[in-house]
Amino acid sequence: MSRVKAKTPSLCTCELLTKEIVSKSLSGLREIVASCYGPSGRLKQLHNGVGGSICTTSSSSLLFNNLSVTHPILKILTTSVQNHVSHFSDCGLFTAILCCHLIENFQRLNLSSATVIKVSNHLLSLCTDYLNSETCGCRISVDFSNMKTLHCLVQSILTSKPACLLNKKEADHISTLILKAFLLTIPEKTNDFAILGKSLIIPLKGERVMDSTVLPGIVIEMPEVQLMTFPIKKLPSNALKVALFCISMSGEISDSGEGTLIVTYGVSLENAVVDQLLKLGNQLISDHVDIVVCQKVIHPVLKQYLHQHHIVTIDRVGISLMEPLCEMTGTQPIGSLNFISPTSYGYVKDLCYTNFGSKPYFHLIPNDSTVCSLLLCNRNETSWNELKLTCQTAQHVLKLMIREPLALLGGGCTETHLAFFLSHKVISVPECVLKANDCTQTEYKIVANAFCNALQAVACSLEHDKGKILADRKYGHFWSVQPDFPPNVKWQDLVSKCGCGLCSNKEELNWCLLQSIHSASQNSPLQQPTNSLKDHLTLDCFTAKLHGLQVAVETASLILDLSYVIEDKN
Ligand SMILES: [Zn+2]
Repeated sequence: MSRVKAKTPSLCTCELLTKEIVSKSLSGLREIVASCYGPSGRLKQLHNGVGGSICTTSSSSLLFNNLSVTHPILKILTTSVQNHVSHFSDCGLFTAILCCHLIENFQRLNLSSATVIKVSNHLLSLCTDYLNSETCGCRISVDFSNMKTLHCLVQSILTSKPACLLNKKEADHISTLILKAFLLTIPEKTNDFAILGKSLIIPLKGERVMDSTVLPGIVIEMPEVQLMTFPIKKLPSNALKVALFCISMSGEISDSGEGTLIVTYGVSLENAVVDQLLKLGNQLISDHVDIVVCQKVIHPVLKQYLHQHHIVTIDRVGISLMEPLCEMTGTQPIGSLNFISPTSYGYVKDLCYTNFGSKPYFHLIPNDSTVCSLLLCNRNETSWNELKLTCQTAQHVLKLMIREPLALLGGGCTETHLAFFLSHKVISVPECVLKANDCTQTEYKIVANAFCNALQAVACSLEHDKGKILADRKYGHFWSVQPDFPPNVKWQDLVSKCGCGLCSNKEELNWCLLQSIHSASQNSPLQQPTNSLKDHLTLDCFTAKLHGLQVAVETASLILDLSYVIEDKN
């Protein structure tokens, strides 16, 4: 009998939550995350101690999935950001950097955490109300009849990830393809509820980025041995009949189901299985099926038999393609080798054999479907993986655009603009607001200043090369000047446009250093740029960024409110 060990009591501690330890842990995480931020962010190479694949990235999702943090506060922070990224894909780094700065700034204040939390939540509501209002100066509407804004949005996402290794022309090409694929997933005829189709990303590693393309339908890699050139007989309706199997057709006994198998003496199990498969083949032939697709493996004898009757076989397609195949062909997946319902079959318009790079592919062309394939090429495995992740983010962001067709100015301009907006707003805080938040005018302004500094610090994280960072007091945008400019040149002459690209340096803009904005200095409200440039804007997804802002402030409040860490050691 084993000894029963008495349970040890849970460990309740507050030592880990001292300002010094929290600040040290947070600044470490912040430095890692902030160094990844933006188009000139520094890449991180992720690998584990026991070997395995190495990944080079600056994406928050990969970074946080591979980062083991032990401090409870960092666990809360990284979990919040991961949760945000799982729902919105974009703005993970922004959320993490802002949250770190907010906690660090708030901890330096000599105020009770209750006051800081109340005021910061009020400041958050001022920001969200402003961002949601028509008067918001850092928000633009996305017009679906003009692809320009959507193109800018996708391109901004692609160029924010340097590990994709795209040059300007390549980023432009991939952005166009992502948009094209997105448009192909929108149904032409809709009722009240439009259900978007699917765009599948097909890997073509080691090929030129410019060879990437989008095709309607599904492209499936074809093993060499399946190369066939026989003509397919088409139905009178000019369509090809498809049968889709979700079970193995390899004839393995283990695929026959559960239970005991009794074999009579003298019966060859292998022959019996092949006979059963050929019987299935006969049914497919008599039902005039043209293409048999199987999620798993098809027995070579059945394959050969079907080929002799001019039926194309495509096997090992994998589970991920099953849903798009059903959607595109209208088939019901067949889960039995004995019975096929006539309603299980579906149709495609045509089937082609085609080559991309050095590999042959089947191309199933749909009749009328919202399924398409994005054949994505990149130079090597690492850059392809980052590009795939970035394309998936862009695809998700485009879907979010349908629900809320709005974008926020990128390149540090939204954060800078919001900091100016709050600075102006808190010049005089109404008495009722102070009463509701249980604080004095001075306390409110101290918290607001720390909040604005955190927003500015996020914008400043975009600069990694020690360049000069400026803001204009007229529109409240972000400007960066390259470092080491010649002494005989005025820095004002070196900047032509702001971070997002909306404002040009052609008028008196009333410059200031970004980190010197404080509540007393922004006396006049911000203006809207009139002669704005709109061709090459850097944009962020409104929904994702707004949610990221909320998550950052709420997580910071949660962390500030922690008093004890209770750990169960059993
Ligand atoms: Zn701007």
